[in-house]
Order: sequence, then structure tokens, then C-alpha cells
Amino acid sequence: MNRILIENSRIWQQDGFVAGHTLVLRDGLIEAVRPPADIAPQPGDRRIDGRGACAIPGFVDVHLHGSVGFDVMDGSPPSLAGLADFLLQQGVTSALATTMTDTPERIEAALAAYADRGVAPFRGLHIEGPYLNAAFRGSQPAPHLRQPRPAEYLPWLKTGLVKLMTIAPEIPAGERLLRDALSHGAAVSIGHSGASYEAATRYFALGASQVTHTFNGMAGIHHREPGLFIAALESPNVTFQLIPDGIHVHPAVVRMLLRLVGIERLALITDAMKATGLGDGDYALGDVFVRVKDGQARTPEGGLAGSTLTMGQALKHMMRFCDLTLAEALPMVTRVPARSIGIYPQKGSLEIGADADVLLWHEEEGLQATVIGGELVYQAEGAWSAATADA
Ligand SMILES: [Zn+2]
Repeated sequence: MNRILIENSRIWQQDGFVAGHTLVLRDGLIEAVRPPADIAPQPGDRRIDGRGACAIPGFVDVHLHGSVGFDVMDGSPPSLAGLADFLLQQGVTSALATTMTDTPERIEAALAAYADRGVAPFRGLHIEGPYLNAAFRGSQPAPHLRQPRPAEYLPWLKTGLVKLMTIAPEIPAGERLLRDALSHGAAVSIGHSGASYEAATRYFALGASQVTHTFNGMAGIHHREPGLFIAALESPNVTFQLIPDGIHVHPAVVRMLLRLVGIERLALITDAMKATGLGDGDYALGDVFVRVKDGQARTPEGGLAGSTLTMGQALKHMMRFCDLTLAEALPMVTRVPARSIGIYPQKGSLEIGADADVLLWHEEEGLQATVIGGELVYQAEGAWSAATADA
């Protein structure tokens, strides 16, 4: 495979940007970050002029249900393919296809479709439900919530495709489920839960490592009932998923969370549903009817039903809510979510030897180009697209 040289960009390296260097991609990997004078031209080199944009790792979204009319629960390979195309146009180069609480047959159909067509940018599945607390179910449909039975979930885990599972500790036999998930290589997140401080602390000690959409679908903090949030706060290896659309969590609470846990424990997610990228209207999410108005997806009862957020918007919102620079906010959409599912630094970094999943990101204009596995798969419309050249 020929090389791609990304020139005239500021390149993300660990905690800041390096200027005056060229990013060299070869055979799908990051090969080098060097001053242009140190790079001997080779026949077949492809040059991309970054025009001063930032070269950053592709976004990582561990919690995404659908977009542009496609839903993971469609259980359909073409649907996953359509979703994958949209994600690449949004700069998402790693995503977990996230299921909803549903019948065993429909969850198995989603797994089967994934096994058939679960290619990049998907890196596995996030099973959200059906083992959740009905009192904190949000838009997860109540009739399909149930207790975990190994005969049901072990075949899912044995596919090796499940990388994350959201469970509620107060569900009977949840501890067996936790151990089974971990032993099959899935990370475990606590969510849709009213777990006590004690129960949640115990689950984190046993290896649960995330909180699903922090503050949404969980009990609040009470000074005599500290609950899940405080248990997670006191468990240093726990990562907090957050939907930074300004609707699910008030920006003031977003700022509080950042102050409490810091950037390295915050993974921004979209929790996007299938209206994302389409606009307002009425949508069916499995058995659940959802109306999207002004970008807010709600059930007939008024509950929030996922978001219409993209990862690029998540990054921009977080910078605005918390007055952060790009360099400060970037780990929350790259390194932290990648680490939370065990794919860092191969994903979520531009270290030498990492996968060549690279975005050109302009501070005002947003996404300019997506490279995944060393291949340029998306370029924004306009003058920029003329800026690539083959040697
Ligand atoms: Zn949820």
C-alpha cells in the first residue's frame, strides 16, 4: 500500500498539537510524525493538504442506537451499512452498535445482522438492556424488561461481539451476569438503575467500569442515599458516559461533573437514535413511538428517548459548556471512550503504530476529512476537496 502524507496540519500527540510536521500513514497504521524535510518522497505517495486544520484521532462513540433512519434493532445488514456510512461522514471511526430492550428474537436478529455486516467503524455491540430496573427504564420498553437467564445471554456473549453491557445491580442474579460478561471480554456499565451506594460500590469492586449516560436513567444524589453516582465517583477506575446535548443534562451539571471527575474519566456519547441527521418528525423505535421536535426525541409520556446528537456536536458543546480548548476536550471523544472498551491506544490515539483513523478537523468549520484504516473515505464539500494530490 502507498503512503498518505498529511501536510500543513497541526497533529494531535497525547496532550497537545505539534505544528510544522507531516503525519505519515502506511499500510493502515500511523508510521511517523516528522518535519517535512526528513521525509524522502516515494513514488505513489498521496499528499493531503491539511490547510491548517487539526489532524486528530477519529471519534469513538460507545453508545449509539441509530441515525439517518437506520437503527441497530432493524436487525438488517443494509441498515448497519447505511449507519456506518453516516458515521464516517461524522468522523466516527469506532462505534459500538447499541441494542435496545426487546424480545430475545429481536436482540438475536441484531446480533446476527452485526455478525454479517458489522464492519468498520463498528467495533462490537453494546447490549443496553433488557436487564434493567423498570423504575429507571427511560424509553426502554417495560414489557421486555426481564431477569437475566444464562441460557439467554450466554449465546450473545459467546459470539465475542459484545464489548459492553449495561446492567442494573438491583436485578436478581445480576452478579452472575456481571462475572459472565467480564469473562467473555465485555466491559460492564451500570445504568437504568436505582442501585444503592453499597450495591453499586460492590459492582465496581467486582469489575464494572462505567456509568451509562450519567444522570439519565438513574437515581439522583441524596445526602442520606448517595446511590450510583457517588459510588462511581469514589471508584477511581470508573468512566462516566455523558450525553452533552444540553438537553439530557443541564450545562451547569456538566460543568460540575467535569470538575468532580476530570477529563480522563469522561466519555462523551451521542446515544443517537434514528432521527439523527434527518430532522424533526415521528419515528418508531422498535415498539416505542417517538416524536422529534426541535431536535429533542421524546416518548408520548414526555420522556427523553435518545438524542439527535453527533460526536462533532458533542465535542463542540463540551468545549462551549466548560470553556475548554480543543486540546483539552479531545480526549473525551477519543482516548477516554477507547480506553473504556479496551481498544486504546490502537484506537483513539495517533501514536506511532496506532490504526490510521484520522480526522482533519477545522476549529470553526468542523470535520473536513475522515481517514479510516489509512483510507480517505470522506471529504467535506467545497474547495478543500481539491487539496489532495497523488505523486
Ligand atoms: Zn439508555
